[in-house]
This record gives sequence, structure tokens and C-alpha cells, in this order.
Amino acid sequence: MRFKVFLIKYAEIGVKGKNRGSFEDALVKQVRRALRKLHQSFNVYKQPGRIYAESEEELEAEDVTGALSKVFGIVGICPAVQLKEGEFDDLALSVTDYMEKMYGKDCDKSFKVFARRTKKSYPMTSQEINEALGEKILDAFPNMHVDVHEPQIPVYIEVRDSFINLYTKIMPGPGGMPVGTAGKLMLLLSGGIDSPVAGYMVAKRGCKIDATYFHAPPYTSEWAKKKVIDLARIVAEYSGPIALHIINFAEIQMAIYEKCPHEELTVIMRRYMMRIAQTIAKKNECLGLVTGESIGQVASQTLHSMAVTNAVCELPVYRPCIGLDKQEIVELSKDIGAFETSILPYEDCCTTFAPDHPVTHPNLERIELSEKNLEDVIDEMVEKALATDEILWVRPE
Ligand code: ATP
Ligand code: MG
Repeated sequence: MRFKVFLIKYAEIGVKGKNRGSFEDALVKQVRRALRKLHQSFNVYKQPGRIYAESEEELEAEDVTGALSKVFGIVGICPAVQLKEGEFDDLALSVTDYMEKMYGKDCDKSFKVFARRTKKSYPMTSQEINEALGEKILDAFPNMHVDVHEPQIPVYIEVRDSFINLYTKIMPGPGGMPVGTAGKLMLLLSGGIDSPVAGYMVAKRGCKIDATYFHAPPYTSEWAKKKVIDLARIVAEYSGPIALHIINFAEIQMAIYEKCPHEELTVIMRRYMMRIAQTIAKKNECLGLVTGESIGQVASQTLHSMAVTNAVCELPVYRPCIGLDKQEIVELSKDIGAFETSILPYEDCCTTFAPDHPVTHPNLERIELSEKNLEDVIDEMVEKALATDEILWVRPE
């Protein structure tokens, strides 16, 4: 069946008091953005406790729920019929007509009517509507029966001020908080599996995202860069447009390679990545950094290594994958549609120079001592790297 009205439900948690307006406004904005891809004209607006998306044309429910499946903050989408308030018999007729279209005259499922009134002047109470409408449905569908505990078809009737909503299906949404309700973070985005998942996870909590990618041409290729742009686009389907900063890191990497102990290369490199990403983050009002690290996954992700990396960060560093196993991250990566792209075999600047035996327990003083070897050149190199910043606005499809 095709519908014009889609009622969008969000979780009440975290939407109390003053937050409510901004939560709803952010959700309306994200719903509008997501529906654009259907190329239909929609009126999206809020009413107490919910959002409505009304289409000019009747649409397949699946098309609309599909388009909204990446909008965080939505817990349920109900394709609904909106009825004008009138005599109860007219309401009952509309309900049985709808049921026949949805389920057929011979439907033998169980049902229960769930009536609610926000319009208190309506002449019947919710309980009276439940009972009277239940009778009418039983009359019209001889094979149906009432089950008050686990009805197969819940029949929702909502008597609002100027109309009545009727729906029997609540399709699940992705949950989370609408993007734009939690400030912005800077994602360190590589071509791997983990960092796109990390970006997705903070977007799910309402954060906007900027991203920084370090490449090292000619040691890393245009293909590797394109892969990262593709990954950013996949994350942007959830987070909305991402300003992707692409930084040429080759010179810094070479300098570290030449002047510092090889087993410390990854940790020192990571510290410079953090410093640079942090500078860009501060310039762009990001409130923290995000990485795809998970405890113990590789040498640079031991607690010792991450402590040494964190020592150069003034902004908080968020690591949403920290407690996940690789397999769990892979599952999420597949769920969000990034995995196939993430496993394309293009080189990353970290792996190009990776030492055979990286330190797993780096000591901060020793690392700082090694970095002294770079003293004469590094400030200028960091300035130069920052000047290579190529900013791409990556938008969802
Ligand atoms: P990923 O799958 O995210 O690449 P990984 O297991 O390969 O993770 P590392 O290469 O150790 O892990 O990188 C750890 C984190 O550091 C990444 O999740 C990412 O946030 C950041 N990072 C690594 N390389 C880059 C890069 N070239 N540009 C930007 N960030 C990077
Ligand atoms: Mg990587």
C-alpha cells in the first residue's frame, strides 16, 4: 500500500526540557536532507512529541523508510493515514477500509486497538474508542480475533487536534541522536576498516564530523586517496557533509625515518598526525579528535603507545572502537556498507614505512628524546604540511 503521511518517532530520552527544541529541529533538518534523494516534494514539520513527513504523492512505505534508515534519532517510522475528524461511524468505516486494503477481507490475524487522544474535547474516551472500534473490526473481519497481550496487528488511533492518525506498522529506525545535537569532532580517517566505523559511531551520538587524511605521495597513490574519499562519502551518508582535509605527510615521515630509531617510527608519526589534526580541529571548532584505535590491536594501540600519543593532545581524543574486537568492528563495517571499500588493497602511509619490530611499550621520555633529533627541521615541516591542506567537501550521494 502507498502512503502520503509518515509519522516519525524518536526516543524521549535526552529530549527533556530545553534540549527538546534543538533536538527536534536537528531531526527535521536531517529528515529533509535524507528525503531529498527520493526527488519528491515533502512537507516535514514537528508537532509535540513527533515529526511528520508528508509527501505530495503517495509513496511506497519501503522507499521512505529506506531513505530514512541512516537518519540518527529516529526510533520508528509509521506509514499513516490521516483522517478528518467526523462521526464515529465514518472513522470506523475508514479504519475497516484501510484494514481491508492492508490485510484483505479474509485476514485471520489477531489485533488490538490502541486509541489515544490529545484532543480532550473528542466525544469518546480512548477506552470507548478501543471498545467500539474493536467491535466494528470484528464485524467486518469474521476471521480476526482480539489478543490484548500480543496482537499481530496493533491498530493505532491518535485523535489529534485537527485530524486523526491511523497506522498499524512501526518500522524500526536506526536510533541514536540526530546529527548536529552534539558539536563537531575531527576524525582521523585512514583507508582502513576501523576509522570509518569510529566516525559512524560518533555520528550516531549526534556529532558532526570533519576529517583529516594523511597521505605520502609518491609513496602512497592517488588510488589510496580516492579510497579514503569514498570512505568519507560512506560515513557522510550518516553524518551529513564532511570537510575532508588531505595533508601531505611525506616529508615529515621521511624525516622521522631518517632521524629517529626505526622501532619508534609509528609512535612518533602518530604523535605528529595528532598534532597536525589537532591544529586543524581547533581552527574549525572541533571539540575533540576521533580515531579507530582499539586496545592491543597493533603495537601502536597498546595502552603505553596510546598514552604516549595522547601526551601531545590538548583536545580530548575519542576512540569509540576501543573495546571492540576486530571481528566486531568488521561486522559494523559491513553493516554500514564500508567494508568492501576498506579492504581494497591500497597502501597506507603508516604501512609503507612501518618498522618490522615496533615498540609496544614506548617510554615518553625516550620518545621525546628521539623527537629532539627533528628539532631543527620539524616546525617548518609541520607548517609546510599544514599549507598542503586540500579541503574537499564530501557529501552523501
Ligand atoms: P584503520 O582501519 O582505521 O586504518 P588500523 O587498524 O589500520 O586502523 P592504525 O593504522 O594503527 O590502525 O591507525 C590507528 C588510527 O590512526 C586509525 O584508526 C586512524 O584513526 C588513524 N590513522 C592511521 N593512519 C592514518 C592516516 N593515514 N590518516 C589519518 N588517520 C590515520
Ligand atoms: Mg590504518
